Amino acid sequence: MIYLDYHATTPVDSAVRDAMLPFLESQFANPSSGHALGRNVREALEAARASVATLVNAQPSEITFTSGGTEASNMAIKGAAFARQDRGKHVVTTAVEHWATTEPLKWLERFNFETTVVPVDGFGRVAAADIEAALRADTILISVMHAQNEVGTLQPIDEIGRIARQRGIWFHVDAAQSVGKVPVDVHAMGADFLSIAGHKFYGPKGIGALYMRDGVAIEPFIHGSTQEHARRGGTENVAMAVGLGKAAELARDYLAGGVHSEMRDLFWRELKAALGERVMLNGHPELRLPTVVNASFAGVVGGNLLAELEDVYASTGAACHHGDAKPSAVLTAMGIERARAIGAVRFSFGRQTTEGEVREVVKRLAQAYERMAASASANQ
Ligand SMILES: *Cc1c(COP(=O)(O)O)cnc(C)c1O
Repeated sequence: MIYLDYHATTPVDSAVRDAMLPFLESQFANPSSGHALGRNVREALEAARASVATLVNAQPSEITFTSGGTEASNMAIKGAAFARQDRGKHVVTTAVEHWATTEPLKWLERFNFETTVVPVDGFGRVAAADIEAALRADTILISVMHAQNEVGTLQPIDEIGRIARQRGIWFHVDAAQSVGKVPVDVHAMGADFLSIAGHKFYGPKGIGALYMRDGVAIEPFIHGSTQEHARRGGTENVAMAVGLGKAAELARDYLAGGVHSEMRDLFWRELKAALGERVMLNGHPELRLPTVVNASFAGVVGGNLLAELEDVYASTGAACHHGDAKPSAVLTAMGIERARAIGAVRFSFGRQTTEGEVREVVKRLAQAYERMAASASANQ
């Protein structure tokens, strides 16, 4: 099989698994226990927290472990909204956010919060000036993703962060898709909150983290004991947190070698050479993650084309919409017409992707496309 769906999820790195195993076996103590066994586990948990913090240039005290990217964004958005509702009830976001952002914002409408959704350009990019123009006296939060998961487009986060700081408005960045792929620095971004998802960078599923700048106090929603600075009660998911810490360490090593876009670039070059104008890139040509090509194939349905390639795993639209023939909401928000949006396939590349796999997929894609195009014109 050839797996080109690393934006949906990544396999757990074997070093991550190895780091986790002791915490499923002998190191089972409760990290809140005062005895030596508990203290050892506590140390491992705190080392993991420090590792995640270092990856995004934060302090360990600023990292809260969560069940993933979705929970991190829920915690930031709802927690910030309820903590600041005395100042105002208005939030600004973009038209291409993940459901982990749009759904909490929709839920907040029940409590009379209001959201302004700022449109993006044809590449999926929002203009910082448009964010600024949407701000009001009662705006308490700006929520913008770092990298769009379907098309990979990077947002002008640093610029938006500067505007948010000037205005004293909290800034949440959903970095679930960018952490581990490109450098992420919470200070350069001016972020007050940043969402992290372990399974997008070779960590386990069901673990993530929320960065929350020191001094920012949100309303907690999981009430219990005082774990995680009383922001999220309940005995910590130690093995998974240790796995996330290891994944963060591996990501730092990986990024120390630069940003790796070789497979993405090879794929696009070869695909363009094979199909020319009949294949179109969706997303920003340069300001984009190094791991993704979202391409539209003229005159075919993306899902049907993909179905022709046995044992090749990629995605049409977002993973959560798998099997759905509707045009992607993200592509639609980018102003891409319906026919082209339906012809879209997302290929995403990872650390295990080889040149041989890329060439093989391009060859089979081109053959399948020519076949489908020929039979479509024969039927006309
Ligand atoms: C995957 C993803 C999420 C959700 O993360 P989970 O850990 O799966 O809950 C949120 N935002 C973006 C941009 C993502 O790519």
